[in-house]
Amino acid sequence: MDEFLTYKKATEILSAAAGRSLGGMINKYKYLKEMSYNTYTKLYENLVCPVMDYSSAIWGTKTFNCMEDVHKRAIRFFTGVHRLSPIPGYIGDMGWISNGIRWKLDMVRLWNRLINTTNDRLVKKTFLYDINAHVSSNKSNFSSQVKQICCDVGLKDCFTNKSNIDLTTVRNALFNNYSREWLNSTRNMSKLEVYRDIKTEFRVEKYLQLNISKYEKSLLSQLRYGILPLRIETGRYVNEKREDRICTLCNMNQIEDQLHFVFHCTMYNDNRDELYRKARMSIPMWDNLSDSDKLCKLFEELPRNLGKYVKNSFMLRRRTIFN
Ligand SMILES: [Zn+2]
Repeated sequence: MDEFLTYKKATEILSAAAGRSLGGMINKYKYLKEMSYNTYTKLYENLVCPVMDYSSAIWGTKTFNCMEDVHKRAIRFFTGVHRLSPIPGYIGDMGWISNGIRWKLDMVRLWNRLINTTNDRLVKKTFLYDINAHVSSNKSNFSSQVKQICCDVGLKDCFTNKSNIDLTTVRNALFNNYSREWLNSTRNMSKLEVYRDIKTEFRVEKYLQLNISKYEKSLLSQLRYGILPLRIETGRYVNEKREDRICTLCNMNQIEDQLHFVFHCTMYNDNRDELYRKARMSIPMWDNLSDSDKLCKLFEELPRNLGKYVKNSFMLRRRTIFN
């Protein structure tokens, strides 16, 4: 805590330390060349989170940009996207719970510990004083923050009765609230137009869990978040009107967006034949599905084949445009 009684200084120091831990973790990844989702998540939870979570039971309801930056950087590295990628995209695909949820759970754990401490302990007396200060004078303090968490998750009685708060109930309720906010945040981002159609649930995506090369994983992420440098995206850099961002690689006169790239552009017919052959074998009613349903199914059922298609087609596109 600094001279202004805020936690800014402490969280800046903690986030810098967490950033260094993350750097060490990323170096391990680079050294090993590939790392599974589970290993990466385990390392993050054991090397980076404990640093960020230090004493979060005290300030857990606050948000600090420096801490959020570490969290986002860790996810961006794994999904293989740049810092200007739409945040709800990569956050939703990774499926990690937010810093805020972890910290609020830490506060609830501390509350439970204090409730179960005997009344003759000094820490318990201070705790009861804290509750009383909030109840009688409406002071904003630790108790008021725990009360707010209880109200948010429908467990206000636990605060009123000074009883144990069930951690699983809190976790599930906070997660549901967070998922709803995340879904809303995807709504107004034009880059996430396709993403919205293929993703409705906050959970880790299969293509990130499979042993797919880092480059292919990155291309698949870019495709999902609308940042694969197709003309629909590169046109934004030069303020080209959306309807003018036509594909120059075929004669179809269609906007070169993700769906055109995967399903229509005649430039990649050979690659597509292979992908469709596999899709017809494993996805029922393949030919009757809409483009976005097809893309959704490919990510769910055939992420490896889709990764191969996107890599080969994107390389062909690059060779054609730049040679
Ligand atoms: Zn085309």
